[in-house]
Amino acid sequence: MLSRLFNQLLSAVMKRSKSSRQWLADHEEDEYVKRARVEGYRSRSSYKLLEIDKKFHILKAGAVVVDLGAAPGGWSQVAASKTGKKGQVLALDILEMQPIRGVTAIRGDFTEDGPVRALMALTGASRVDLVISDMAPNLSGMNDIDQPRSMYLVELAFDFAVRVLRKNGVLLVKCFEGEGINEIRRLFGGRFAHVTNCKPRASRATSREIYLLGRGFKGANDNQGDIR
Ligand code: SAM
Repeated sequence: MLSRLFNQLLSAVMKRSKSSRQWLADHEEDEYVKRARVEGYRSRSSYKLLEIDKKFHILKAGAVVVDLGAAPGGWSQVAASKTGKKGQVLALDILEMQPIRGVTAIRGDFTEDGPVRALMALTGASRVDLVISDMAPNLSGMNDIDQPRSMYLVELAFDFAVRVLRKNGVLLVKCFEGEGINEIRRLFGGRFAHVTNCKPRASRATSREIYLLGRGFKGANDNQGDIR
């Protein structure tokens, strides 16, 4: 009995380390990983934002941008360079992020009040032009656990955005196709004039990841009170 359990465990560990090795090999060969190294971006994710911006022009010079789930900083790098010296980029992540010129970083958990209040103190209400969120929970590989955790982060990002965005502001949020996504689209539809699904080329085709883009924020007419 014990030896059967041991063999099952060993086989699970070996399968996992085989898929990790495969992931590493694919990562090394990835076009965007190679480009990020050459072009000085901290993550391949930078190309997702660059591609979305190329199509929708969401990053404007002088804009105030909040980047949620910012580490290691690929999106913040893009945002800081596009918004320029007159812009302001505020970044938040649970992980530490090496400094980026033109980016004010807060380290904290977005599901907790303290870090969100610290961010609000920097932005004030209705002052932000663009909120971008690439937040994703640590994936367990079990959809029943991962999907609700990811949707929770999306809802929190949405609640935050409707408090800080100025009229006609923009929200870009990473989501995973699956349970709850249609409710999120409906939420977006209630507060933004245009809602678009974005699947940039740099987002792996095998991933259920998509980015929801809300443009033309209709304005903060209610919920001006406390965060959560
Ligand atoms: N956009 C980033 C870039 O270009 O470098 C990559 C972001 S990575 C896909 C997702 C990030 O979300 C991770 O750094 C993770 O720490 C962060 N994250 C996940 N849950 C979070 C939470 N509750 N609060 C703050 N950050 C969180």
